[in-house]
Amino acid sequence: MSSDDLDYKADKSGEENLSAIQFTKRISGLLTICIDGIKKMVDSEDPFFSKLNELKSVLEKVKPELDSSSGKAFKLFFEKKIEDEKLIKNEKKELREMVVSLGNTIKEFAVFSGGVDSNLTEHIDKMRQSEVTNDILEIKDQIISEANKIKEETQSLKVELDKYKEKTSELTKRLEQTEAEALIDSLTGVYNRNAYDSEIVRFIKEFERYKHPFAIVVLDIDHFKKVNDTYGHAKGDEILKIVASVVKSTIRDTDKVFRYGGEEFVIWMHKMETNTAIQASDKIRRMIEAKNLDFIEKGFIITASLGITCVKESDTTKSVFNRADKALYKAKKNGRNQVSFEK
Ligand code: GH3
Ligand code: MG
Ligand code: MG
Repeated sequence: MSSDDLDYKADKSGEENLSAIQFTKRISGLLTICIDGIKKMVDSEDPFFSKLNELKSVLEKVKPELDSSSGKAFKLFFEKKIEDEKLIKNEKKELREMVVSLGNTIKEFAVFSGGVDSNLTEHIDKMRQSEVTNDILEIKDQIISEANKIKEETQSLKVELDKYKEKTSELTKRLEQTEAEALIDSLTGVYNRNAYDSEIVRFIKEFERYKHPFAIVVLDIDHFKKVNDTYGHAKGDEILKIVASVVKSTIRDTDKVFRYGGEEFVIWMHKMETNTAIQASDKIRRMIEAKNLDFIEKGFIITASLGITCVKESDTTKSVFNRADKALYKAKKNGRNQVSFEK
C-alpha cells in the first residue's frame, strides 16, 4: 500500500488532503479487493466464505473506492497468487496422475508375473486422494521401491525361464535324435523296418493321389548263411554294411533303401517305370558283384538276388510287397545273382 493513498494529514505544500470519508472509502476499497481475492482461494462451501461476503456487504455501504493505485496493486497480487495456486494444483494433479498410472502399470506386471502386491494397491489408493506434495512424493518413492522389488523378481524369473528354455531345446534335440535313430538301422545306417512300414503307407497314399509310379525292389544276399558259417558273424556284419553302402551309393537321391530284416533290403524307386527299374536294379546287382574284387583275395563271393515290381492301381502296402517278394523268389529259384520282375 503506498503512503500517498492514505496520507490525509495537512500538507505543507497546500495540496488537498484526503478527507475522513475519502480515507474510509479508500480503505474499504482495499479491503473489498482483499476480500474478493481471498474468496477466490476459499471453498464456497466453507463458512469462512459467507463471513467474507458479510464483511463485503458491510463495506459496500460506504461505497468503497476500487480503482486507487494501491487497489490495483492488491488486485494484481491476488490474481498472481491465484494463478500460482492453479499452477501448483495442476502440477500436483499431473504428478499424481503419472504416479497412479505408473503404479497401475506395475500392478498389471505384478499380476502377470504371479506376484500381486497388496501394498501397491494401497499406495495407489493413497496417491489418488493425496493433495499434499510431500505425501505425493513419499508415495511415489514407495511405489518405485515396490517396482524395484518386482524388477528383481522378474529378473530371477527370467533366469529360471532361460534355464527352462535351454533344457527344452536340449530335450527337443535329444528327442529328434532319438526319433531319427528309431528309424535308422544301427548296423548299416540305412532306414530300418519301422521306417519302411510307415513310409510304404505314405508311398501308396501319394500314388493314389498323384499317380506318380514307383518300383519296390526286394534284395536278398545269396547264401549268406554260408558266409556267416564260414567266416563268422562279425565278417557277416561287415558284408551287410558294405552291401548297404553299395546300394545307397548306386540309387538316386530321391530313392530310399531300408534294411527289411537280416540280409534283406527293400529299395523304393520313386517315379520309376518297369524298364528303368529293372535297369537300376541290375546296376545294383552288378555293383555288389563288382565289390567281390575286394573280397576275392579273402575268398568271399558275395552276390545278391533282386525281385522287382511296379505299383498298380488298387495296390495295398501288402500286395505291392508280396509281388516284389514273389519276384525275388523267382530270382533265387532261377540260380541267384539276378534280377527278376513280377507284373
Ligand atoms: P539265400 O540265398 O536263399 O537267401 O540263402 P541265405 O543263406 O542267404 O538265406 P537264409 O535265410 O537261409 O539265411 C540268412 C542268414 O542271414 C541267416 C542269418 O544268420 C544271417 N543273418 C541275419 N541277420 C544277420 C545279421 O545281422 N548279421 C549277420 N552276420 N548275419 C545275419
Ligand atoms: Mg539270403
Ligand atoms: Mg533272406
